[in-house]
Amino acid sequence: MLRVVVLGAAAGGGVPQWNCGCPVCRKARSEHPELQSTQASIAVSGDGEHWFLINASPDLRQQLTATPQLHPKPGQLRHSPIAGVILTNSEVDAVAGLLSMREGSPFTLYAHDRVLAILRSNSIFNVLNDKNVVRQPIEVDKAFEPALPDGSPSGIEVLPFEVPGKGAWYLEGKAHPSGTEGVGDTLGLRILDKASGKYFYFLAACARVTDDLKSRLEGAALVFFDGTVWRDDELIVAGLGTKTGQGMGHIAMSGKDGAIESLAGLDIARKVFLHINNSNPVLLNGSHERRHAEQAGWLIPADGTEIVL
Ligand SMILES: [Zn+2]
Repeated sequence: MLRVVVLGAAAGGGVPQWNCGCPVCRKARSEHPELQSTQASIAVSGDGEHWFLINASPDLRQQLTATPQLHPKPGQLRHSPIAGVILTNSEVDAVAGLLSMREGSPFTLYAHDRVLAILRSNSIFNVLNDKNVVRQPIEVDKAFEPALPDGSPSGIEVLPFEVPGKGAWYLEGKAHPSGTEGVGDTLGLRILDKASGKYFYFLAACARVTDDLKSRLEGAALVFFDGTVWRDDELIVAGLGTKTGQGMGHIAMSGKDGAIESLAGLDIARKVFLHINNSNPVLLNGSHERRHAEQAGWLIPADGTEIVL
């Protein structure tokens, strides 16, 4: 059985974002605190006891406090159920939470070489001592089984694969610390429960849906998918920014080539948007965008939502 907890559903900045006065952020600060959401991350477990984080958001500390499944075991002075962290990219909203895991508890960090190179080149991540935190490279199209703290298999198989996307913003126009060009900056994950054969997909960043991606997702029990913006020019139209969704490596929810339309014909039991930016009107209950997404079978999750497969 796979248990998945949505630790946070928001894109970078969260809801509300510290410096944002957009309609969603204003409502989240005042009459609609239920709109508040932390930055995107999920936790997954095969046994209900040991958990793996998919990405470590800057809000991780708050997320762990709010999630009883991830609290230390009663009666132990130092303990965490978190056995590992799997990174799908090197954006700030995927890696900054690692700095909140520096208090000496062992775990394994799984990431592509390109992401590990970025962590190595930023000395502040050395707070994760090599003795406690093993950095395990993962490869595109090569499945791996993350281990439990005693080295035994977790029963979860993770298959990383390349999805259309972009490298981290803060590296735009700069040499990549890995010294190479190639795939690995934006990964999707298929996460499989070896006992039941059930699996789900995690794609918190994806620039477009290719035919190859469609055939992967066909038949999945659950898909978490990039829900950053409702429309590609959303930030520009709202006066919030100068970048399009595509310019940031994110597909829009709406439109002919958007996520809703692109995945509409596929046999996917549950579709959940993740990494939803505070500019996205889908966050507002009762908006026509929200109705459109829900009628198309999509869930807009609240932080803490648990899904069992
Ligand atoms: Zn906002």
